Amino acid sequence: MTNFAQSVRQVLGADLQSQAVQTIQVNLGLLCNLSCRHCHVEATPQRTEIMTWETMQSVLRLAKALPQAQVDLTGGAPELNPCFRQFIGSLCEAGHQVQVRTNLTVFFEAGQADTPEFLAGHGIHLVASLPCYLDDNVDNQRGGGVYRRSIAALRRLNSLGYGRRPELPLNLVYNPGGAFLPPDQATLEAAYRRELKERFGVDFTRLLTITNMPMGRFLNDLQQNGQAERYKTLLTDNFNRATLDGLMCRHQICVSWDGTLADCDFNSILGMSLAGGLPEHVAQLDPALLQGRTIVTGEHCFGCTAGCGSSCGGALVA
Ligand code: SF4
Ligand code: SF4
Repeated sequence: MTNFAQSVRQVLGADLQSQAVQTIQVNLGLLCNLSCRHCHVEATPQRTEIMTWETMQSVLRLAKALPQAQVDLTGGAPELNPCFRQFIGSLCEAGHQVQVRTNLTVFFEAGQADTPEFLAGHGIHLVASLPCYLDDNVDNQRGGGVYRRSIAALRRLNSLGYGRRPELPLNLVYNPGGAFLPPDQATLEAAYRRELKERFGVDFTRLLTITNMPMGRFLNDLQQNGQAERYKTLLTDNFNRATLDGLMCRHQICVSWDGTLADCDFNSILGMSLAGGLPEHVAQLDPALLQGRTIVTGEHCFGCTAGCGSSCGGALVA
């Protein structure tokens, strides 16, 4: 048994179990216009792995069986999947609430100029990466010129009502620029709000702080700097039992670009399938079997339970 599984059993007296599915997270592919230093899925402009329309149809069937669940689209840059708009159109037509995780700069790629209007027109909720309110920190992590393009995209989204009208939420994502835990989410949100408003007139809905997982390019970075073991110890030493209730794996199912299923995208990257003999592929899944399954965990899970906790929805406890 792993140290993480032991920590969970000490608190809960049992392994982690899933509850009702509130989110279907769908990775539309590993193709991205950026190659960020911290990227845990190691997306680049050269990656060719993208979800096909056939797999999307299986996801549509899954979503139909879970009508209360939000469909959360991620990547790579999900907008670069050629079936992105058709998929969103079908999801919306079926009445699902859809959220897109965007890197903002993708709106300046060829063929993407009207993507913000498309998203607003379909009432899509947005989660946008902006790992700092200062330009040097963003460009250092994501590439030269990313901050300037991100601010331009945020202003454009604001002009369409994003971050200003309640039906068009625009949440920003912070993640640390190095081997440390995120600061307090509420305090940092206040700083983001002040800086972005004063300097650029930008509004947003909420700030979500996310802990860097020691995997993918972030792990490579840590290893090159001799910090990998120290960072993993930091995560383990800051295990917070209060985060267990809110762990995203307990409330979601994750579908990878090739249709394989996992409890979260970190497990997906690590090739960890669902437990309990559940099928590996979304096309074979009986959605009724998702609730009450045992979550597959590993030492990487300390990345979700350290300090205030971390999930795709930000910190788990205040
Ligand atoms: S972190 Fe996001 S924007 Fe950056 S390379 Fe990875 S998928 Fe693309
Ligand atoms: S890494 Fe995945 S399975 Fe582990 S605690 Fe985090 S969300 Fe749950």
